[in-house]
Formats: sequence, structure tokens, C-alpha cells
Amino acid sequence: MKLRKVTAAAAAALVLSITATACGGDGDKDNEGTGSGGGDKIKIGIKYDQPGLGLKEPDGSFSGFDVDVATYVAKELGYEPNEIEWVETKSADRENALSRGDVKFIVATYSITDERKQKVDFAGPYLLAHQDLLVKKDSDITEATDLNGKKLCSVTGSTSAQNVKNDFAPKAQLRTYSTYSECIAGLQSGSVDALTTDDSILAGYAAQDEYKGKFKLAGLKLSNENYGIGVKKGDTETLNKINDALEKMVADKSWEKAVNENFGPAGYKHEPAPKIGNIVK
Ligand code: GLU
Repeated sequence: MKLRKVTAAAAAALVLSITATACGGDGDKDNEGTGSGGGDKIKIGIKYDQPGLGLKEPDGSFSGFDVDVATYVAKELGYEPNEIEWVETKSADRENALSRGDVKFIVATYSITDERKQKVDFAGPYLLAHQDLLVKKDSDITEATDLNGKKLCSVTGSTSAQNVKNDFAPKAQLRTYSTYSECIAGLQSGSVDALTTDDSILAGYAAQDEYKGKFKLAGLKLSNENYGIGVKKGDTETLNKINDALEKMVADKSWEKAVNENFGPAGYKHEPAPKIGNIVK
């Protein structure tokens, strides 16, 4: 009896796998990334609170350069915009979200680093940004050395927080929150003296109506942040398709259009489109 049950289950599994294989041409739309077995949606990790990059709007829609890149890539993988399910992946959650299979890929200001490459794979890079400081308009912080003894905010699990400790401001009083919007609130209330992360992100905050004229970027290029698209370690099939999509996005000028639309309003001067595999150290 028991044996019969196992055999039936095995047969069912075989039928399923044959069906999946038979759908070859539609292979992108398998269950991977949905985690539910539903099959017709793709789950993509983004940030929800970074204007110009990944932002959940009050009406529930999503905007930003990362969102546009993700939407373009998804289309190349065979998914229309209405077949995308956005998932918030905060800085410290990204590696785990990929390893667990919560999302198929992540486009979330995610810098390619050797440490992260131990756990996930990266397509790209698709943008080069630089770490900078955001301070109040009247602040006298202009250099990284001015941060010694000052309260500096950044985010847990980010390269920004890591670089502060390892590199340019080991004597700053580092406060780490789970999102940059919490840091912005701290900067506004005066509970922190400066916020550090990528200039692309900081420019987006500084240009928000509610903050206009209140903050300034220091304009320091404290690091090179090569944004990659994270995929589960070993998922070379998806990785290669994403790299092809990124190359196409640059070639057909959609990349340029997306940077201008998303960074233009913040006056962010972006670097030229990186070549796939070309990491600026
Ligand atoms: N690009 C940096 C990083 O991946 C900072 C931005 C972020 O936390 O997403 O850590």
C-alpha cells in the first residue's frame, strides 16, 4: 500500500517534469521565483523608499531607475509589467532573499562586492555611483575627516556603513538603521549630523519637495559603487539572460532614457553606462 502511494507520487512528479520540459519555449515562466507554484508572475526585489531609484508611490505604483531597469529585464525574460510582483528587499535582506528564492532577481542599488559574491551572483554592472555625504545646508562638514566624533547615519548591511568603519571615518559615531528614509528623518530632526550612502540615492532625497533647500551633498566620491542585478548563486541561465537584456537596454537607448527621466529631476550627474563585467575598483 505504502509502496503504491510512493509510486503514484513519483509518477505524478514525472508527469509534472515532462510537462515542464514540454513547455520548453515558455521555460522562463516556470515556478522559479514565484515560490508559490503559481507560475505566471515573476518576483523582483527592489527598494521601496529611495526616490529616483526604487520608490513605492502613495497610489501603490512603483517608480525609479531600478524599477525601469527591472521592468525592461523582466520583459526580455518574457514577463509583461502586470506580471511583475515587486518585493521590498532592504539592504541587509538581499542575500537571504536570493538564497531563499523569495525573488528571482534584485535590482536595488545593490553594489557588486567580493564578499557578496560568496553568497550571490551578479549580472551587470548597470550603473556606477559613488559614496557621498548628505548634510544640512548650513553644516560645516565638507570632508570625511570632519566626521570624527560626529553622528553619522547609514544602513545595516550596506557597503556605505562598512566603508565608514573600515575606511574613511572610523572615529565617527555610526548609527545604522534599516532604511535610508529613517536616516533622513534623523538628519532633519538633528539626531544625526550626516547621512552617508551612494550619491545617486542622496540626490533623490535632497530633491524631494519636503526637503528642498534643506540639505546639501558634500560632492565627495568616497567609493565606487558598481550596481549589479543579484541572482541566486549558480543561476547562470538567468544571469546570462539578464546580461543580454542590459546590453540591449543600453544599445536601444532605453538605458539613457531611463537615467534622464529618473535622475534628471534631482540633477544627478550619472556616469556613462558601464560595460557588462567591467567593475570599477
Ligand atoms: N550601494 C550600496 C550597497 O549596496 C549602498 C546602497 C544600499 O544600501 O542599497 O550597499
